[in-house]
Amino acid sequence: MGFWWRPLGVLAGVLLVALFLWAGWGWVAALGFLAGIQAFVMLRRLLQEYRLARWLENPDEVDPPDASGTWGDIFYRLQKLQRRQRASRSELTSALEQFEHAAEAVPDGMVILSRTDQIEWCNPASRKYLGLDCDRDRGQFVRYLLRQANFLEFLDAADYSRRLVCKSPNNRELTLSLQLVPFGEGKKLLVARDITDLERVDAMRRDFIANVSHELRTPLTVVGGFVETLADAHDLKPEESRRYYDIMLDHTHRMQRLLDDLLTLSRLESADHALQEEKVDMPAMAEALAAEAESLSRGRHHVSLRLESDAWLTGNLQEIRSALGNLVSNAVRYTPEGGEITLRWREQGGEGVFSVTDTGEGIAAEHIPRLTERFYRVDRSRSRETGGTGLGLAIVKHVLTRHGARLDIQSIPGKGSTFSAVFPAARLLPALPGENVIPFPERGQAA
Ligand code: ADP
Repeated sequence: MGFWWRPLGVLAGVLLVALFLWAGWGWVAALGFLAGIQAFVMLRRLLQEYRLARWLENPDEVDPPDASGTWGDIFYRLQKLQRRQRASRSELTSALEQFEHAAEAVPDGMVILSRTDQIEWCNPASRKYLGLDCDRDRGQFVRYLLRQANFLEFLDAADYSRRLVCKSPNNRELTLSLQLVPFGEGKKLLVARDITDLERVDAMRRDFIANVSHELRTPLTVVGGFVETLADAHDLKPEESRRYYDIMLDHTHRMQRLLDDLLTLSRLESADHALQEEKVDMPAMAEALAAEAESLSRGRHHVSLRLESDAWLTGNLQEIRSALGNLVSNAVRYTPEGGEITLRWREQGGEGVFSVTDTGEGIAAEHIPRLTERFYRVDRSRSRETGGTGLGLAIVKHVLTRHGARLDIQSIPGKGSTFSAVFPAARLLPALPGENVIPFPERGQAA
């Protein structure tokens, strides 16, 4: 109502003046006065309309015209409206920008498809996974750009509960999981997720189960076969049944070793198995391992020990002993009779190096990077014949990694190998005689 007071007041004033004029000077004077006022109002209105039109041409950059009275009121209200619009436009723009930034940051590829499967928008990750480019491919039919038969079938099926696992058309080394999510009126969001690592872990799991089953099948079949033979044969000579029992025992030990190694690996891998640190007398450990080598060799090899450092280590004694014991046992198992096995403890470049050198069969270079994989063997039958499980070096690698140490393998086929456990300088301790917590057997006394 505030808007009306002013114009109505002015109108009433004009009419009053016209009435006075009529009474004093007659109707011609009154009409002349009204006509003059009318002409003034029209001119003023034309001027304000012109100023309004000029302002509306560029309202964001130019200030609204200055005016008083009704026109001032109109301009003021228009300016308020304009400010409100400007504020909501900038809110909308910043929300849109935020959405765009978030969509760009999403690691999954995302493509918005229209009702007719034309690309309306896609994020940068979709270039990496699907080879799409938002600027170039906007408006294109997705089926002309992603032409694999399984993708077309997936698109046409429009089964939103299904996921398609396929290779990336942009990089064959990536495995993708594609999903279609319906939204709006007939639109779809195509989401491409990189599941290469998941697939790799899954393949490793499948391989692992297949390997373990394969390793257990032979001894179980042998033991089962002999048990049946023994159950059916009533007139078996004692020496014959003794031989059967020995074979069964041998295969039972093999299964036992496999399970022991599997349990060791799983213990080492479990996240809550923290490293129990203690002071390890490495010279004494090396002596004990040399004794172990002689005991395993039973005089078939020449075993020697070179102690070139008296440094100790901080670490887990049992784990280090089991890892280095694996290196020693491998040297004995893969070195023919008459060969030499040398154990050495030294400091080199500030690091502690325990190495086992043999003059055995050696390993071809292409096998070396894979030796620490579970169940990887160069010569499967040689490994089995000598009681190997194929898990020894995997255990060594785990133990060394837990200690921040590394395994270095040097080998020449036909000449021999050197396996070195290299411990970081931070783990080395000066000799602490009398502090060894676990007594090692004297050299030559090991069982
Ligand atoms: P295994 O129980 O079969 O010995 P490991 O994990 O200890 O399993 O070793 C993996 C493979 O590495 C062995 O099968 C063998 O082929 C090779 N290897 C390990 N140590 C030696 C060595 N000292 N000389 C030659 N080959 C070796």
